[in-house]
Amino acid sequence: MKRIFITIAAISTLACSYSLVLGWGTWGHYHINKGAVLALPSEMGMFFYNHSDYIMEESTGPDMRKYTLKDKAEGPRHYIDLERYNYKTPAGMPRTLDDAIARYGKDTVDKYGILPWYIQDMVSKLTTAFKNKRKQEILFLASDLGHYVADAYMPLHTTINHNGQFTGQDGIHAFWESQLPELFGRNYKLFVNQAGYIGNVEQAVWNAIDSSHRLVPVLLATEREMRKDNPEDKQYVMAPSGQPLKNKYNQPVHAYEYAHVYHELLNGMVEKQMRAAIKMTADLWFTAWTNAGAPDLSDLDPDYVTQRNKAYYKEDMKAWKKGKVRGCKVDKEFEELAKH
Ligand SMILES: [Zn+2]
Repeated sequence: MKRIFITIAAISTLACSYSLVLGWGTWGHYHINKGAVLALPSEMGMFFYNHSDYIMEESTGPDMRKYTLKDKAEGPRHYIDLERYNYKTPAGMPRTLDDAIARYGKDTVDKYGILPWYIQDMVSKLTTAFKNKRKQEILFLASDLGHYVADAYMPLHTTINHNGQFTGQDGIHAFWESQLPELFGRNYKLFVNQAGYIGNVEQAVWNAIDSSHRLVPVLLATEREMRKDNPEDKQYVMAPSGQPLKNKYNQPVHAYEYAHVYHELLNGMVEKQMRAAIKMTADLWFTAWTNAGAPDLSDLDPDYVTQRNKAYYKEDMKAWKKGKVRGCKVDKEFEELAKH
């Protein structure tokens, strides 16, 4: 029975896991952006809900630009190698991207990453889009912002050892951010309190980065300890060649039991980071909107669209209050994997 499952898991993971290619993976990014829509107060929430399919789809847009379109400017927006900046506390870091470039030079920041500064820039751009009530810009920027915020809550996006490559743990990045939520995310309780206003965006973003970074040692050490007790064929799904099976992004696929134990030992870390990402995304959307003077968004869509979606919104909100983010079309895709 187990063998059959592992085969299913291996195939599904092979087909669906975007590993390094898609940040949190499709499952994570879709649920974070949709969760953030549901965490908005209704005067914003209905408009965002009308476009929640787009907001979910575009949640992986920045990774598409990075990997599929090979947009060079895109890469450094997704991470920050804090060790390279000799990071100690947020107070010691440049306040804006311009400050960072002035201090380190553009080539250096492009190499070591700009994630926290880029999030702040996105919030400013989104604020302008709200002020001008430009619908497409609002939706595009809000969706992309959700992506980068999600990346900030993935601890390995804040470290030079981003794939465990310096500690003999190659593949842990995709393992943590794609395979674990794809396997176990179905049982997560993702509900967060309604979006609130952030008075100091810079500080809030750095706090997020800082708390993510603090999780890096335990995230890595937990798996490193497990390796000691588990030979390779217990760690990975093995390919017929006798080597660990690789997904199409050349990342090793971990065995279900191994994933299960690691997930348990992490004691809710993935779930908590997802929830925190949802809350921060919603808070930053709400903050941008508030700073833009809280414009009325109800006239941006034809009335019939809003009327048509009202009942679905209500249903989704009911499920949301129980912790569930409904209506992500990726749910079906990963159902087999999570059935175990
Ligand atoms: Zn990313």
